[in-house]
Amino acid sequence: MSLPEAWRGELVAVGFVTVLLIALGLGTDYLVPFLWGGLTLYLGWHLYQLFRFTRWLNKPKTHPRPHAIGVWQPLMLRVDQLSGRGQKRKRKLSRMLSGFLESTGALPDATVVLNDEGRLDWWNSVASEFLGLDRKLHKGALIDDLITDPVFLSYLHAGQYSRPLHMPAPVNDNISLEVRIVPYGKGKRLLQARDITRLHQLEIVRRDFVANVSHEIRTPLTVVHGYVETMQESSETFGGPWKRIIDQMRIQTLRMQRIVDDLLLLSRLETRGSNEGQGVVGIYPLLCGVLEAAQQLSDDKHHIITLDADERLRLVGNAHELESAFANLAYNAVRYTPAGGTIAIRWWLSGNGPCFSVTDSGIGISPEHLPRLTERFYRVDVGRSRESGGTGLGLAIVKHVLTRHDAHLLVESEPGKGSVFTCRFPHSRVAS
Ligand code: ADP
Repeated sequence: MSLPEAWRGELVAVGFVTVLLIALGLGTDYLVPFLWGGLTLYLGWHLYQLFRFTRWLNKPKTHPRPHAIGVWQPLMLRVDQLSGRGQKRKRKLSRMLSGFLESTGALPDATVVLNDEGRLDWWNSVASEFLGLDRKLHKGALIDDLITDPVFLSYLHAGQYSRPLHMPAPVNDNISLEVRIVPYGKGKRLLQARDITRLHQLEIVRRDFVANVSHEIRTPLTVVHGYVETMQESSETFGGPWKRIIDQMRIQTLRMQRIVDDLLLLSRLETRGSNEGQGVVGIYPLLCGVLEAAQQLSDDKHHIITLDADERLRLVGNAHELESAFANLAYNAVRYTPAGGTIAIRWWLSGNGPCFSVTDSGIGISPEHLPRLTERFYRVDVGRSRESGGTGLGLAIVKHVLTRHDAHLLVESEPGKGSVFTCRFPHSRVAS
């Protein structure tokens, strides 16, 4: 029965009972008591039905479904239909949710959902394993209280999530994790952690191998170079082509020594803790030394080399590392600028932070080479680099030093016109 039909039936029944009561009242001279009593009974019954109905709606499991007649019958049916539909939707949603949880649970990476306060909303089983999370204890806990590694905390709060963070797993130092944070929704974040232990170990093996080989080669090379220098001093006595041969041997052993030194410096930069040897560095005196060395390297090429530096602008960093990075850029400018060219060394405070730059009027670099310049042994022109005494490691060293100082390298260049290499440091590095 539909609701309008039920209402019609209800009105007919009420009308019929009212007429009956009036007839009985008139017949017995008790019209008012009959009408009053009948209507009170009718109202009482509806109130009772309403009471049972709301009680059942509130707690459908503990109270029986009220017996429905009249207008109550279609009302009950409608409620039944709506609750059936709700149940169906709930089942569908819970099926979807368990499918989603199953698939994220099967992911090999740890996944943690953080709410807008940084509290744990949900995580998969790999996250429990890598981060030591317990479903009963840690639901709703602050991530800061669970992963207390200071490097992780500064990464989490800095909000710069473009690069991943490498750190040991909180439960086991032997597991290396690559952690990524992805912000989404309103202040929510997804934390992902990937096991990179094998990769990390391979990287250590590679690093150690290069460092050990360089170290082992260094001593015999020094001995050979020493002998070659002694031979060179008396090369006239050998006569014939020997003078040229000994000169070449000296140049090549020197080149090998420079490569070994650069490789050792690179491996030191890779293994040292990022804050090691850091302090307040007066950049101006350091640049005066770099200028002098660049002038010596320029020698008879007569470059016009200028220095324009803010004498009061000092930096928090490692003096030796910064000197080697700045010197590499200045020496490159000397080596790749034809005789008589200009080289400008600058150090100033820009709106984006402290900047060091070397501008030259040299041979320049084609745009296709720019993205690869800081790779080890990458050279635009191998012959030219060797001829000018380059090792192919200079810009790799610069990049490493800058990364350790939260800085980055910008290169602008045009073939035939010259280049500008700029090191941009963050404001936080300025020493007050
Ligand atoms: P190298 O020891 O060969 O100079 P670097 O790593 O210092 O190695 O530089 C990589 C390459 O970048 C160089 O081989 C050279 O081709 C190019 N390069 C670096 N600086 C300059 C510059 N100022 N002008 C032109 N080319 C440059």
